[in-house]
Amino acid sequence: MNTIKNAQVAIVTGASRGIGAAVAQRLAKDGFAVAVNYASSSTEADALVAELTAAGTKAIAVKADVANADDVRRMFEITEQQLGKVDVLVNNAGVLKTLPLADTSDALYDQTFGINVRGTFNTLREAAARMNNGGRIVNFSSTTLALNMPGYAIYNGTKAAVEAFTHVFAKELRGRDITVNAVAPGPIATSLFLDGKTEEQIQTFAKMPPLQRLGQPDDIASVVSFLAGPDAGWVNGQVLRANGGVA
Ligand code: NAP
Repeated sequence: MNTIKNAQVAIVTGASRGIGAAVAQRLAKDGFAVAVNYASSSTEADALVAELTAAGTKAIAVKADVANADDVRRMFEITEQQLGKVDVLVNNAGVLKTLPLADTSDALYDQTFGINVRGTFNTLREAAARMNNGGRIVNFSSTTLALNMPGYAIYNGTKAAVEAFTHVFAKELRGRDITVNAVAPGPIATSLFLDGKTEEQIQTFAKMPPLQRLGQPDDIASVVSFLAGPDAGWVNGQVLRANGGVA
């Protein structure tokens, strides 16, 4: 928790809905000024910013496609101008479409790697030049990487890359006192997970963890809050698998 409210600044990518929105709400409660990034859901992003602002948080909505390096540069510039230099970067934006590898189009491959991998690369590269020393970076992997389920080859490939970036980048930031970690959620009840699944498929996933339920966005927001906060200062270069015990 910041002692002075909004003294520190967080960017949360893909924060218009789902896990990212819960993370933005939680970091606002923790005292951060928050930049709510989105690609197309401007109504949801604006509504979230209005909610955070009404609760006394400095918050802005920033439209930027994380897959586009110029957009990401602009996102950092706008955040710096309106909120201040960035202390926390949460690389939450991501997409998932499950399909057997053999049926995956070039376009779907490019889109998934573009957002999940290049998007993370773009923000990390910008963060290296612009973040305050002492900051925190939280990337997003997925527990699907440990499950090797059919249909997840491309998505898991992107998350494997994100985990690799996390381990190496933590070392490349030596001397800056910036930690770089990743959270790897199990199934969380958001549109990314729910869309296109039958009720039966959803229930199968819900029964997988020994805790016998789907995760909720707040389950992950709590983990991000920990990794972004003072108590996680000695956790660096790690992947935290928050999944109710699935794997
Ligand atoms: P979601 O509900 O589909 O939300 C995705 C968010 O990402 C939206 O705010 C979306 O904004 C944004 N986004 C998509 N493409 C973007 C782009 N090119 N640039 C900027 N923002 C973009 O997904 P979620 O379930 O919250 O997932 C969040 C993260 O958790 C992802 O990295 C995902 O891989 C990971 N994860 C999720 C689960 C799960 O079960 N839900 C499990 C493991 C890991 P727009 O609508 O404006 O595009």
